[in-house]
Amino acid sequence: MTQQLVSVLKCEDYLFEDLKKTLLQSLENIGFDPESFRGARVALKPNLLVPAPPEKAVITHHEFFRAVADIVKSYGGVPVLIESPSIHSVNRVIKKTGYARVVESEGVEVAHVEDTRTLKFEGGRQFKQLDIASAFFDADIIINLPKFKTHGLTYVTGAVKNMFGAIPGLAKSKMHVKVPEGDAFSEFLLDLYGCLLHGFDKPKTFLHLMDGIIAMEGEGPGASGTPIRMNAVLASTDAVALDYVATTLAGLDVEKALMVTRGFARGYGVKSPGEIKWVGDPKEAFTHKPFRPSQGTILSNMVRWPITSKRFRNLFIDRPVPGEAKCTLCYQCMKICPAGAISKTGGKPKVSTYDYNKCIRCYCCMEVCPEAAIEKGRGRLQWVLRL
Ligand code: SF4
Ligand code: SF4
Repeated sequence: MTQQLVSVLKCEDYLFEDLKKTLLQSLENIGFDPESFRGARVALKPNLLVPAPPEKAVITHHEFFRAVADIVKSYGGVPVLIESPSIHSVNRVIKKTGYARVVESEGVEVAHVEDTRTLKFEGGRQFKQLDIASAFFDADIIINLPKFKTHGLTYVTGAVKNMFGAIPGLAKSKMHVKVPEGDAFSEFLLDLYGCLLHGFDKPKTFLHLMDGIIAMEGEGPGASGTPIRMNAVLASTDAVALDYVATTLAGLDVEKALMVTRGFARGYGVKSPGEIKWVGDPKEAFTHKPFRPSQGTILSNMVRWPITSKRFRNLFIDRPVPGEAKCTLCYQCMKICPAGAISKTGGKPKVSTYDYNKCIRCYCCMEVCPEAAIEKGRGRLQWVLRL
């Protein structure tokens, strides 16, 4: 049986030369020859969710991105940054995250992501076609650069979830209305991954290089999460295999990472953990404590009832609750809310107003709130489920 290689290498800081060395070793570990970059247009897809500083661990670190761009260039490739943050323009996000300096010094092109083209894949379960940024069509190679984080809706976010950013801007949050449950949302992300693997006329070479040096635990994936050291750079040509290894390395419960378990079932690549070969540093070399998952996902993975029912949601599922002490009334939460559940304050309290009968519990508001002002409040009967 051929095994899918996943490289895991120890890396404790974001020092450019060390990162380059580690990333080149990662490519060698997974059997990828960087000479393949020669003459190729190489799409680099980091996680640039919101304009957050690197120490918050919300985004792929800019030095990680720089090291990859530098490797691509040094082997004669043309690196192109392709990312579409949810509510801010990519130019605004790169200015606030250290990326602007990197793209200038490394001469990296920043793609326009407003134009879309349709990718079709008959093997999709819920979506057999999806519109993604057309810039991906022009690339010969796609390098996915996820940050490993816990996630309020999908339990973890890694390689599979990071490609959600291929769908431009607010079209992303609309997907939460179409597929509001974590379960269906994970299936949709796998449909998107299937489209990216099989939907181009000529399949792209697809690499996944994960920034797991300073990762995130708790109420991720936005500013409400807590940075935690994992000290790891991970690599694979299979996103599901990579997410499996990262989730295991974090000490999280793989059974709750539906993108992994359902990903195995789809069979786009590996079909089980037995088909994965861990190469590089052994698991024992990583000494961090197990990551703390987001609270909400514990419950949403315990139950399989229809959370589309308003009553069920209000009784049993965590609700996003903005706190007056931290809220600056920037209304970024209102802008992203796909359900139109958030409105401006009527005066007192001085905090955005939430309509929980409309709220579908996608937690996009928590993801984008720059002040980490939104916490999860318990549904009134949630204690019953905990028992
Ligand atoms: S809750 Fe957060 S995103 Fe919403 S208005 Fe307040 S500070 Fe802004
Ligand atoms: S209020 Fe927040 S959690 Fe509820 S639907 Fe809007 S963005 Fe999603």
